[in-house]
Amino acid sequence: MVLPENVKKANKVKIETVMKALEKRGMKGYYAEDADEALKTILEMIPEGASVGRGGSETLNQLGVFDALHQGNYTCLEPHSEPDPEKRKQITRNIFSADVLLTSANAVTMDGEIVNIDGTGNRMAAVIWGPDKVIFVVGANKLVGSLDEAEARIKHDACPPNCIRLEKKTPCALTGKCGNCLSPGNTVCCHTVVTRFNSIEDRIHIIFVNENLGF
Ligand code: SF4
Repeated sequence: MVLPENVKKANKVKIETVMKALEKRGMKGYYAEDADEALKTILEMIPEGASVGRGGSETLNQLGVFDALHQGNYTCLEPHSEPDPEKRKQITRNIFSADVLLTSANAVTMDGEIVNIDGTGNRMAAVIWGPDKVIFVVGANKLVGSLDEAEARIKHDACPPNCIRLEKKTPCALTGKCGNCLSPGNTVCCHTVVTRFNSIEDRIHIIFVNENLGF
């Protein structure tokens, strides 16, 4: 969807503000005008021969990042496309020692806090203590004013389509409204993680795309 020109301009201003906030938090932001520029930036950031872990992300699917990586000299670790549960578990574990983790975020506040929910926790565990380089790719639709707004966005905008995608029988999937469910095998809101500071130099990078991407 093409965004109106003034929305694009406002998004750019917001992204510049968030990128400054990220600097104080030990994280580095990048601006991409559109999906093509984002893909180019991502590929420039991943050295040839690197092993790359894939965090489940509709944004990465839309950008075709792993389709592009498959064309090059990279080892892609993609647990979601492995049907065998034991092999999937092993690939998920191997991501911890990959060179790069690629994923998205559910929300980023204007103060530079990155907010994610996770079901099993593997994605956020790898973000917290995994590969030496973590790259988040974030559409402008994920920017929010505060941590409260981040949680609201996640429950209202991210979880319903995500639960439908994963065929979960949650209230948000069935009615569009969060029911604060506690349902084994269904609930995707098991862990809420706020990344507010990075103390390992050059580890966390966030590419902001001036488009609506993912959910
Ligand atoms: S707590 Fe349950 S109903 Fe609410 S958003 Fe999360 S998965 Fe959906």
